[in-house]
Amino acid sequence: GQCILVCPVGALAEKDDTEKVIDYLYDPEVVTVFQFAPALRVALGEEFHMPPGANVEGQIITGLKNLGADVVLDTNFTADLVIMEEGTELLSRLRENGCLPMFTSCCPGWVNYAEKNYPELRPHISTTRSPQQCFGVIAKTYLAEKMNVDQKRMRVISIMPCTAKKEEAQRPEFIQDGIPDVDVVLTTREFARLLKREGTKLPELEPSAFDNIYMGEYTGAAAIFGTTGGVMEAALRTVHKKITGLELGPIEMEAVRGLEHVREATIDMGEGNPTVRVAVAHSLKGARQVVEAVQNGEADYHFVEVMACPGGCMGGGGQPRSKHAYQSSWQARQAALYNIDREAPVRQSHNNPLIIKLYDDFLGKPYSHKSHDLLHTSYRDRKRIVQHTMKKIWEEIEERE
Ligand code: SF4
Repeated sequence: GQCILVCPVGALAEKDDTEKVIDYLYDPEVVTVFQFAPALRVALGEEFHMPPGANVEGQIITGLKNLGADVVLDTNFTADLVIMEEGTELLSRLRENGCLPMFTSCCPGWVNYAEKNYPELRPHISTTRSPQQCFGVIAKTYLAEKMNVDQKRMRVISIMPCTAKKEEAQRPEFIQDGIPDVDVVLTTREFARLLKREGTKLPELEPSAFDNIYMGEYTGAAAIFGTTGGVMEAALRTVHKKITGLELGPIEMEAVRGLEHVREATIDMGEGNPTVRVAVAHSLKGARQVVEAVQNGEADYHFVEVMACPGGCMGGGGQPRSKHAYQSSWQARQAALYNIDREAPVRQSHNNPLIIKLYDDFLGKPYSHKSHDLLHTSYRDRKRIVQHTMKKIWEEIEERE
């Protein structure tokens, strides 16, 4: 009641959401399906006195299982799915003289910012839903069907580096007949608090593997979604293959890596095909810079990645506040994500065997009618809607820049 008016939004939401997760875990009628974001595994350890960049993926899975989670899967799986949809969307815009440049849509901090401040950009934002939302909807349709579980009994719980993901999950377009695709979102720090409250000593846990069912595999391309530049690099690997029939080589795209506010690259797509021009921006400063360049006609990109947080999700507002200097902890987190990619047996989203199976068994093909229904969205003028919920998040982001 009264508290809502005086509590800082973050603190209040944190308390309620953690309680909700505990209720779901204890409810025998509920099947809990957890997902966690690419950036989480290289930062959560810092809350448990581990160095930045320590990869605790396996310990997170064990920690969740010990808490009573029924199914533990990875947002990385749907990061691969997003690449299939967004890559195909870009190709269709290139081939059919569609609205260009296309901007990425996986960061709700950026999407909300654009909806409010640059309404004219709306048709430029990819209609592909974010990995978090694609996960929710695929879990409650495809996975529920495969597991023979009524979707009404399923609760999808996300652990995200991000406060804006809470607001994203509550958008009315992501709630079907009263059933949200994602039921509750915890930030990295909230999750750390929950683990500590239950007495979990993360560094001492034996690592486990993801539940190897239907959505249980990811590629190196998905892993790098957690850093600025990662979505672009992952997308270009797939777009190159789709246009030329050949895998992109060298696979690591130095031009889009690094921590400059705005980075640019041109990619040769082989003889007879147009060169693709791209840009990557992070932080609100980078976002403004890249949008102004496009609007003033100074830049002629086909595809632009924007992440609202400095460093991308690895530097997200819900991540551990590192005692290390920000830049050095980002660099360690970023290096760890690139390392996961380098060591991954499969490094292109289109080669993920479970993504191929998902299309074969359920979706048909990328950008199909069914994909449109489940995995795409539209944008609207949210000037008035986002004003209150997002103001604090932007202030937080600006503070960290
Ligand atoms: Fe959330 Fe920040 Fe990542 Fe955007 S960049 S999805 S606001 S953590």
